[in-house]
Amino acid sequence: MLKIQNYINGELVSPVSNTYLDNYNPSKGEVYSLIPDSENTDVEKAYNAAADAFNGWASTPKEERSRILLKLADLIDENHEELAKAEATDNGKPLFLAKMVDIPRASANIRFFATAVIHNPSESYHMEEGYTNYVLKQPIGVVGCISPWNLPLYLFTWKIAPAIASGNCVVAKPSEVTPYTAYLFSKLCIEAGLPKGVLNIVHGLGTSAGDAIVSHKNIKAISFTGGTATGRIIAKKCAEEFKKVSLELGGKNPNIIFDDCDFDKMLKTTLQSSFANQGQICLCGSRIFIQEGIYEKFKTAFIEKLKSHKVGNPFDTETKMGALVSKDHLEKVLSYVALAKEEGGKILFGGNRLTIEGFENGYYMEPTVIEGLPFNCRTNQEEIFGPVVTLIPFKTEGEVLSYANSTPYGLSATVWTQDVSKAQRMAKNLDAGIVWINCWLVRDLRTPFGGVKQSGVGREGGFRALNFFTEPKNVCLKY
Ligand code: NAD
Repeated sequence: MLKIQNYINGELVSPVSNTYLDNYNPSKGEVYSLIPDSENTDVEKAYNAAADAFNGWASTPKEERSRILLKLADLIDENHEELAKAEATDNGKPLFLAKMVDIPRASANIRFFATAVIHNPSESYHMEEGYTNYVLKQPIGVVGCISPWNLPLYLFTWKIAPAIASGNCVVAKPSEVTPYTAYLFSKLCIEAGLPKGVLNIVHGLGTSAGDAIVSHKNIKAISFTGGTATGRIIAKKCAEEFKKVSLELGGKNPNIIFDDCDFDKMLKTTLQSSFANQGQICLCGSRIFIQEGIYEKFKTAFIEKLKSHKVGNPFDTETKMGALVSKDHLEKVLSYVALAKEEGGKILFGGNRLTIEGFENGYYMEPTVIEGLPFNCRTNQEEIFGPVVTLIPFKTEGEVLSYANSTPYGLSATVWTQDVSKAQRMAKNLDAGIVWINCWLVRDLRTPFGGVKQSGVGREGGFRALNFFTEPKNVCLKY
């Protein structure tokens, strides 16, 4: 069976304890590989390699760092097919999605920061009294990057690329649920000639390997994407050591549909924003608010569309939704459907686990649509992170704003209307780090990315990510 290895000091190595965890293929519900169950000792080795590499990498001209990263991006593109298949196998997502989104975005992330670092401006301030100030942006040192399972290589590279491009050395941990593409990526780093120790990938559980990274006294900054509960633990630990921290956390995003929207465009995109990646995207719009005048029309059309929304083998070209990522996660999502029923919700479509012929043990579930729940019940307040949406009617702008802003989260929001003024009023008043008007999931990598309230702290994207991974030092000179 395939044994995934840690990537430390430029080499693929076993964990010190030589113990491994099972890694499942969710589309079959079967173990198909093993991953290192790394601990403190592995993180210590990774830290030492990163610390040894730091001075050399930080003083390498940024054009040279950029050249190596661009080579890495090219290698991702050259291995597109293998990486996409690995992602679909490891995560359960449809192969078409991995090919179209996950893998191209991984190389785009690296290419973006490889070039951004060359153009990242600095500041200077001149004083009439004969002083001038300029700002050095210096790499922090050894930093930690921890990522989740829903967009494995996509989010892993989104953190690592700005960290390395800025001259830091990294100890990184992908999710233990989806480690495979990070392992393949480590092989590409070797092929690209990334100097040893610049990036170290330690596989294992959050509570052991992840915690060892966060708690390490000399790992000076943590960039984390994952659940809000984990983010809270990490924020507390980082506070004790005054570590720089960036947290991209959960969401419970509103999709707000006014009756003057372009109905067909809205319907097509709402199908995606509800169920893409089995609803396991932090930006999915799981609360759908529909203005009264088109509520029935929307409901009928949406459910009609779902009848041909095929769930099945991720490798089948007809498949729109693959398997959920794990048995535990499937059970969690199904428990929310049970909760919705207890709370008085009516299941309009789906709601059940699905058995797929030839893949009987896979973690499949029907796309699920629920109505009849108040905006403030648990189903409408807690993140489910699966193929489950609720439909909630509303009358006025003010009413839907109060519903939309009622959760502890504030990651993204989508608004559908043809009225430009209304769209902009909504955008201004929504509690969200990202607002999409008449579109969804469109990303310009230069723009700020992140959430308000319990959806996160800080922003990624563009120069903001490079600035997170550097310390600005003001130098004041008398002349
Ligand atoms: P998670 O918080 O369980 O795990 C994320 C990562 O943190 C994993 O690598 C895990 O091993 C590690 N981890 C867990 N406990 C840890 C600890 N105590 N110390 C250090 N590391 C620890 O999240 P998940 O289930 O993998 O991902 C789903 C969540 O991620 C959802 O809430 C989703 O909304 C969120 N998410 C947010 C964004 C965003 O950009 N805001 C993007 C994707 C996913």
